[in-house]
Amino acid sequence: MTRIAFIGLGNMGGGMAANQAKAGHQVRAFDLSPDAIQRAVSAGCIAAASVRDAVMDAQVVLTMLPAGQHVRSVYETDILPHVAKGALLVDCSTIDVDSARAVAAMAVAAGLRAADAPVSGGTAAADAGTLAFMAGCEEADFTAVEAALAPMARVIIHAGKAGSGQAAKICNNMVLGISMLGVCEAFALAEKLGLEADRFFEIASKSSGQCWSLTSYSPIPGQVPTAPSNRGYEGGFATGMMLKDLKLAQEAAAKSGATTPMGAQAEAMYALFSGLGYGTKDFSAVLHLMRGQLNELA
Ligand code: NAD
Repeated sequence: MTRIAFIGLGNMGGGMAANQAKAGHQVRAFDLSPDAIQRAVSAGCIAAASVRDAVMDAQVVLTMLPAGQHVRSVYETDILPHVAKGALLVDCSTIDVDSARAVAAMAVAAGLRAADAPVSGGTAAADAGTLAFMAGCEEADFTAVEAALAPMARVIIHAGKAGSGQAAKICNNMVLGISMLGVCEAFALAEKLGLEADRFFEIASKSSGQCWSLTSYSPIPGQVPTAPSNRGYEGGFATGMMLKDLKLAQEAAAKSGATTPMGAQAEAMYALFSGLGYGTKDFSAVLHLMRGQLNELA
């Protein structure tokens, strides 16, 4: 049994903390929302009164917070001054590479081990304990990071040093955001050309147009039973979340001098779709923007 502090019990963190408790670990859980703490207690965690209370005696500290500023602030103010010596700190939030490197450096300066380990997979994978983690940490710490993440994971890959997990996450999601736009554009064009959507799906999924956005997440209802398009584009990966990741990618590109024109286009498209009021819809719903038929979306 490991003593774990879990900070951030939202849509993702709630299920992740529950899986740590289910695996037999002692989980002291904290969130700014009392309701979130109550749900974690129902799932077998112990309520902590504050971040300080959660981390004081912890061997592993896991954080699942909204963005870089939350992670920086919780690390600086609450975790680093109060955490037990020798603890392993793993931040699973999706944040900017600079913040990930900054908090890891502060942790190392305080004599602690730290990793950034963002996830791929949504709330269903968080609840099921089948997330994919990409970890940025020292090679020597990876075995400990793997052990800490195992109850929540389907796969855990070492991406490189601090910040590399976040780098992998934003590059992966840039591919995803761009490929979905390509798939949606192609369906919209196929329709204009009188090509049946299901026939095009069958052909492209067996041809060089095949990709995850098509065969796992088709924006056309009825083609992939588990795709959000079958549920009115509810659940899945919200457009607002995709936009957040593409913004992180663009910021990182600007700072590092990388040329990412397709990523910039993708960010603009999802920003437009989100600005029209569809930020909570799954990102595959952008098909309706391509078709110019937003009235079809509830
Ligand atoms: P969420 O908003 O549901 O949860 C974040 C939680 O952090 C909230 O409950 C909030 O109260 C809590 N919080 C904020 N500041 C805090 C503080 N100072 N102390 C304690 N708790 C605090 O968000 P989420 O969907 O769970 O996402 C969390 C992270 O995971 C984000 O970085 C997101 O980009 C990433 N992510 C989300 C998904 C997804 O499908 N939702 C998928 C992959 C990655």
